[in-house]
Amino acid sequence: MEKRLIIAIDGPAASGKSTTARRLAQKLGYVYLDTGAMYRACALKAKQTGLALGDEEAVRAMLDKLDIEIKLDGEENVILLDGKDVSGAIRTNDISRLSSDISALPAVRYKMVELQRRLGSRGGVILDGRDIGTFVFPDADIKIFLTATDEIRARRRWLELKHKGVHASLDNVSEELRERDKNDSARELAPLAKAADAIEVDTSAMNVEEQAEAIYGIVKARMAGI
Ligand code: C5P
Repeated sequence: MEKRLIIAIDGPAASGKSTTARRLAQKLGYVYLDTGAMYRACALKAKQTGLALGDEEAVRAMLDKLDIEIKLDGEENVILLDGKDVSGAIRTNDISRLSSDISALPAVRYKMVELQRRLGSRGGVILDGRDIGTFVFPDADIKIFLTATDEIRARRRWLELKHKGVHASLDNVSEELRERDKNDSARELAPLAKAADAIEVDTSAMNVEEQAEAIYGIVKARMAGI
């Protein structure tokens, strides 16, 4: 039987990670795990409870009681917080920003990473995030690092929001992505970074289909050699 691999897809915000990971999971019959959604759920809990991120004691107490469940069904992820589906509620701008701040706290990362390793270690899984290839699964079978220019990423995110009926200016979206990437790259523990053995793919000139096809091609070629 074919070995069921661990595939890591990392990269900055709006570089196309989740779309690619979802499509790849569908084509390979693998499970998709959206690790950003976990940090987002954690941020939502912090917001609901008015948590002060600088209060270590309070952060620890929050983590002890944290009830995040992620239902994996092929390429679909349903995120439950305290038993409630929050898959939509974690996608706001507020939560994007807060998730980046909260994910810099080592206690938070260790807790989320433990869950990610538990869910992914049996293989047959594609994880997308910032530190999958460098920290969560440094021995992942295949590592992809997706990039695109700042302008293209901002435009993609802006269009995505527009389709969802959220009106934001391109400048604001662009600023939000820049801030978040800076924050994610600068944190001490497991920052956003390309693993030395990751394959970097610049998707600036590709549409969604081309991007999915390109990554699928790379993964199939690598699989043939594993
Ligand atoms: O991928 P997404 O944009 O949903 O992630 C939200 C935030 O969660 C990121 O900006 C980052 O701060 C954090 N994150 C992380 N490590 C991951 C995935 C996400 O720190 N593996």
